Parts: sequence; C-alpha cells; structure tokens
Amino acid sequence: MRFALISDIHSNAEALGAVLRDIEKRGIKRVLCLGDIVGYGPRPEECVDLVRERCDFSLMGNHDKALFQGAARFNPYARGAIDWTRERLEPTRWGVKKKVKTDRWGYLQKLEVRVNEKDLAFVHGSPRDPINEYVYREDIYFNDGKLREIFSMFERLLFVGHTHLPMVLASDMTFHGPESMSAAKDEEDVRLAPDKKYIINVGSVGQPRDRDCRACYVEFDDDVVRFHRVTYDIETVIAQINEIRALDAVLGTRLRDGM
Ligand code: ZN
Repeated sequence: MRFALISDIHSNAEALGAVLRDIEKRGIKRVLCLGDIVGYGPRPEECVDLVRERCDFSLMGNHDKALFQGAARFNPYARGAIDWTRERLEPTRWGVKKKVKTDRWGYLQKLEVRVNEKDLAFVHGSPRDPINEYVYREDIYFNDGKLREIFSMFERLLFVGHTHLPMVLASDMTFHGPESMSAAKDEEDVRLAPDKKYIINVGSVGQPRDRDCRACYVEFDDDVVRFHRVTYDIETVIAQINEIRALDAVLGTRLRDGM
C-alpha cells in the first residue's frame, strides 16, 4: 500500500505542479488530497483542475467550504482572498453558465468531509470537527483530553492537514517528527509501530508554516511515513499575488518565510 498525500494547496499552482512532478518521478500512482485546494493564492482554477485530474479524492477544507458558506470568521487577508476566489469560480456570477466552470464548482461543492479506508481515516482538521478543528503538537501537553477523544475516533491511522505543520503524534502522547529539516535534507522517514495509533499531519503544499518555505507532502508506504520537501519558484507566485489587488502582499512574503 503506497500512496502520496497532499494538503493545503491554497491556489499555489507552482508548488502543486512541483509536488506532482516529484510524485510522478517516484512512480507513486495514487494521490490523495486532504483539502484547502483554494484560498490565499493566485491560481485557484489551475489547482482545482490539477487535483481533479490527479487525485483519487479530495476532502473539503475550511477554505473550500468558505466558498459556499462565507468567510465571516476568517482574518481579513483570508476573507479577501476567498471573496476574490468565489468571484472567479462561481459559475452564475456573470449570468453565463459555462460548463467548465459549472463542473469545477460542482466538484468543490461535493468534496467529502471524511473518508475511511480499512483502518485508515482521512479528514482536513480532526474527527470531532472535520473541517475546522486544529490538532497541534502542543495538545500533548495542554490538551490531552482532546487528543484522547480524537484517538478514540479512528481505528489506526488518521491523516490530517489544516495547521500547515507536518507532524506525527502517537496514541501514547509522544511526538515522532519530522524534526525541522535543513535545506540540505529533502526527506525524512518516520517509522510507525504496529501496536500504536497515529495522527499524521502531512504539512502544506502551497503555504508551509514551519519556517521551511519548500512545499511539503507525504509518501505513505505501509509503516513508513516519508516527509518530502520540494523547492518551487516562490518568486513567480509572489509576482502573481502582487498582480491581484484583492490578494494582500503579505500572502506572498509569508511564502518566502515559510510562515
Ligand atoms: Zn489551509
């Protein structure tokens, strides 16, 4: 059982393209997406089309959901980006319904909230609140009741995104990496023990926040979780963001900082 997991692409087509090429190069056939295809970034259409084409399924993230439910709870940068994205993607916006837009919009509307396959579960956030709840490494120390409840809600492995911070947490409340990766290192393995449960955050393709600006994804191969980091043309994305008035410049500079 070998597949790749991507998440939190956030309309960053340069990063997504680089990650999909890396996956292809490694001969990984199956790709799964944990949500937040859109939001923040400048190329929503390309990203939705690439995910539709390449991924077996994508889950619904909070930014994808905000296309349909509004972004009242988002910070102003995120809200501005979602309102702009909705304007671009919504098929009826200008009165003319084009099939390509209707299909894309329909795909986003029907994204799954949770998928289970054998003893694996997939959600964007957490099983308690699949779209919105964050699970952090710090929950080990400050919120173990929350973690225990979450660990009781899946069979063996839970794959999540949402925080944009790659991590592996075990059911005995221990952290198993990845350690912060130096630029010289572009992959790190975490080996899973058969008698524990794990929460695996696959990191973010299009807006990493662990101070490593490279796109992040996971290759899962039976009991090894392999984190990959992939360089991509960040300056091109920053230039694309700066051309769009609705996208604040900070959405570009944070990519350079990996924040
Ligand atoms: Zn996200």
